[in-house]
Amino acid sequence: MQPVLDTLRRPLANLRISVTDRCNLRCAYCMPEEEYRWLPKEHLLRFEELARLVSVFATLGVRKVRLTGGEPLLRHELHELVRRIASEPRIEDLALTTNGLLLAEQATALADAGLHRITVSLDTLREDVFEALTRRTGLARVLEGIEAARSRWPGRVKLDTVVMRGTNDGEILPLFDYARERGLELRFIEYMDVGGATQWTPEAVVSREELLAHIADRHGPIEHLGETSSAPAERFRLRDGTTFGVIASTTAPFCSRCDRARLTADGMWYLCLYARLGLDLRELLRGGASDEQIAQRLRSTWERRTDRGAEQRLEELARGPLVGVETLRRDPHLEMHTRGG
Ligand code: SAM
Ligand code: SF4
Ligand code: SF4
Repeated sequence: MQPVLDTLRRPLANLRISVTDRCNLRCAYCMPEEEYRWLPKEHLLRFEELARLVSVFATLGVRKVRLTGGEPLLRHELHELVRRIASEPRIEDLALTTNGLLLAEQATALADAGLHRITVSLDTLREDVFEALTRRTGLARVLEGIEAARSRWPGRVKLDTVVMRGTNDGEILPLFDYARERGLELRFIEYMDVGGATQWTPEAVVSREELLAHIADRHGPIEHLGETSSAPAERFRLRDGTTFGVIASTTAPFCSRCDRARLTADGMWYLCLYARLGLDLRELLRGGASDEQIAQRLRSTWERRTDRGAEQRLEELARGPLVGVETLRRDPHLEMHTRGG
């Protein structure tokens, strides 16, 4: 099969599906507002519609699917969707990103349904910091979720940590040790100025360089293992063999290698985290388009892709939040929790 390439010769290989825009946390870097406009329930794609789209994407070269949200475990019977996607033989990697709150009770069903691996977001080990950061309680449940994941997906659990200066930057080393002691790979993510991050300031970003310096101060020399293919995380290793990752999406974006696109729960397809416009696949699906017609629209849309949103943001001199609250209210698809992180 000929890969489908965009204008910068990047293949379409990776699909992130936001299965719900709802969330049971209110993380300061993602959902800092008091109120949100939610997608109408009747617009949400049904599991058979999502599975059909995954198969069409697979004909164009998509091999990796990640389920995300909002909080994906809030989607009723999510394991049934996992089962359907896992049965598509061309999908080689089926992963999920979760905040972990509901993971302890769902891990078995998800693993039995064929979920290959899992990433849990963990930004702190302190309940007071958790509450300040997420405006909810529940750190203990997240930690139970991580334990359940370790037993269900041994060697295939990652932790993601967004670091915000003044909020959880004191947690870098405790989180690092927590992951190291459990053999989990931790990835630090730079705080990004994406749609939902209306409180974003450049000063609140803890950069890759700063993170590495902090870890090296405590743990000694760090070896750079290089970047792995199109994966956003750069990997590093300590002398004792501990590996970890840094996703420098703000200070050193990886747009030139980006092979990922995003599907929202109501079927909008976006070619970039920063894109203002998307393609309405729900309209195509529910309007009776055939698989071939959908594939043709996806192909021609991807072939015109020029997006390099994070790199373009780097070029801006006076940088603040990407969009204001009023713009987000008009189009909630711009929100990170709608678009899928
Ligand atoms: N609710 C799930 C979770 O938190 O893992 C999945 C969806 S969440 C939008 C996916 C990822 O996006 C999380 O790891 C979160 O930390 C990250 N994220 C959200 N807003 C971000 C921001 N402004 N900068 C960097 N990462 C962000
Ligand atoms: Fe936090 Fe994920 Fe919910 Fe955003 S979607 S508020 S990152 S838990
Ligand atoms: Fe890909 Fe857009 Fe993110 Fe760049 S900003 S890595 S093009 S999704």
